[in-house]
Amino acid sequence: MNFEPPTTTPGGGASQLGPAQRAEALRRLGEEVFDIVVVGGGVTGCGIALDAATRGLSVALLEMRDYASGTSSRSGKLIHGGLRYLEQFNFALVREALKERSLMLRRLCPHLVRPVKFIYPLEHRGWERLYVGAGVVLYDRMGGAGAVPRHRHLTRSGARRLAPALRSDSLSGAITFYDAQVDDARHTMTVARTAAAYGAVLASAAKVVGFLREGERVTGVRVRDVEAPGSAESGSEPVGEMTVRARQVINAAGVWTDEIQEMVGGRGKFQVKASKGVHIIVPRDRIHSDAAILVRAEDSVLFIRPWGRHWMLGTTDTAWNFDLSHPAATGDDIDYLLRNVNRVIDPPLTRQDVEGVFAGLRPLLTGESDATSKLSREHAVESPVAGLTVIAGGKYTTYRIMARDAVDSAARGLDQQVPPSCTEDIPLLGAQGYPALLNSRGRLAEQSGLSVDRIEHLLYRYGSLIEDILALIRRRPELGRPVAGAEDYLLAEAFYAATHEGALHLDDVLTRRMHASFETWDRGLQAAASVAPVVGEALGWDAERVAAEVEFYRRRVEAEHASQQLPDDASADEARRAIRDPRLVAGQSAATLETATLETATTTEPEANPT
Ligand SMILES: Cc1cc2nc3c(=O)[nH]c(=O)nc-3n(C[C@H](O)[C@H](O)[C@H](O)COP(=O)(O)OP(=O)(O)OC[C@H]3O[C@@H](n4cnc5c(N)ncnc54)[C@H](O)[C@@H]3O)c2cc1C
Repeated sequence: MNFEPPTTTPGGGASQLGPAQRAEALRRLGEEVFDIVVVGGGVTGCGIALDAATRGLSVALLEMRDYASGTSSRSGKLIHGGLRYLEQFNFALVREALKERSLMLRRLCPHLVRPVKFIYPLEHRGWERLYVGAGVVLYDRMGGAGAVPRHRHLTRSGARRLAPALRSDSLSGAITFYDAQVDDARHTMTVARTAAAYGAVLASAAKVVGFLREGERVTGVRVRDVEAPGSAESGSEPVGEMTVRARQVINAAGVWTDEIQEMVGGRGKFQVKASKGVHIIVPRDRIHSDAAILVRAEDSVLFIRPWGRHWMLGTTDTAWNFDLSHPAATGDDIDYLLRNVNRVIDPPLTRQDVEGVFAGLRPLLTGESDATSKLSREHAVESPVAGLTVIAGGKYTTYRIMARDAVDSAARGLDQQVPPSCTEDIPLLGAQGYPALLNSRGRLAEQSGLSVDRIEHLLYRYGSLIEDILALIRRRPELGRPVAGAEDYLLAEAFYAATHEGALHLDDVLTRRMHASFETWDRGLQAAASVAPVVGEALGWDAERVAAEVEFYRRRVEAEHASQQLPDDASADEARRAIRDPRLVAGQSAATLETATLETATTTEPEANPT
């Protein structure tokens, strides 16, 4: 059987995001006039780039750090309709999201999204079963037959058989239902690569610092290449800055939306505020259950769901008024999650069980009208001035709809007929042929000399692009070794992250292409030492740069750890801010990374807070 991937990408463009592609993108950004320029490389922005490119438009995307480095790598990773939105009678939102769930599972990215069985424990007899039962019947009906199995009712002993960890003192029975889960950071990066395959021009580490105007009209943006040596303002001449011309600009900057709006001036109809959500990771053996568990917490709903050899628990939901780039989890956030999870499981978890922690910021819409709370989980699109569209709010699951709506809005300002969105029929890279490869995993294991488990893991991460990794290992057998300290991953994956997936720093590889930063007890410190030379080889780093990347990563882990011991947001933010992404530090660049790690928040560029 031949598992070679197609030699050309679906749209004829290059799907490889690497240093050469980035250099070429920067060259083109300075020379061409694009139909659409997108600000922000989260799932919304990357979705917009894909939507526009597949409608035949020329599109460029600018991301100030790494793809998915904002909220899109820090979500709850559920592709769901949101059972609780049914309680709020928001049927349209649930139906739309469940349709997206079904599309992703079946057509768009079956390699990246998988069904997850949930158990909903019932405390009360009678009414609670009727109430929840009616909700899941509706949920199943809206979800479309067959995408995931249907719900089932369980007795108390049936519930305990499925999830022995459930405390028996407050359990009267349970109902199981299905949702889906995604590796968000990998998914966003794959959307970006797919957009590139269809001809989109993408650049990470490209920060939008201003807008071009002709009269009132927005005609492009000013961009700073934050990897260029001395890229910040030096004297009166901005170094590493260029202008990018566009017929339409779309602001898809998530929690930074208002900051971008301020560059244009004036207030739009809605603003975006940040709400912090924290997740913790514990080893799989700490909770005995064959299903994910829905937990009714003090004031919201938490989920305990499987994540590889771990459980992921979360989330919190509190206003965040500090650094948008480095949201910090506090000791109190962690204790809140442990306290609420321990209400339903036994044996209880303690802080000693926590392997990893991550925090993200929800971009919640607030308007200047009564509809504010209704807006909060929906998305909104507006065009505050000619040439500019703003899209904000929403959730990960509905990114494709958000992208479609944003491009529809921008298209109205283009002087041409634009075809309707077709992303419903555009599988992401790696989706094509994936089910056949999964069925042939035994043969792939035999041919490659890797275990079946390893092949499965690779298929879940790369789909049919697995052949890129296997070919790399055939050429360089030493890269077939597991990463010391993060053995779920191979060294070849680190190399590939730099050559094909747009990673520019060690942190990008360990945190988003892999997840060593929250899946290992030492938060990826040992892995950093073994991965850095491999990434360095791919990106042409010298020994000094390799050492600086490792040192930066170590100090970042240290700062995160320190913040997680503190009780409140203000002190946790101060501790976390001590080590910032070098791409965000004024006067710093890749070339001066080492200095960046030693600088404190006092030298950073001011960043607007959402309040
Ligand atoms: C804790 C938590 C749990 C969640 N759980 C779920 C869930 O289970 N399911 C679900 O469907 N949704 C969930 N969500 C919501 C979902 O994650 C977000 O709606 C989604 O990721 C937002 O994506 P985005 O692209 O709009 O924003 P982001 O991912 O934040 O992207 C915005 C990008 O803009 C870039 N940017 C900012 N300023 C500039 C500039 N000047 N120049 C260039 N680039 C710039 C940033 O670097 C960033 O990468 C959750 C959110 C949180 C916080």
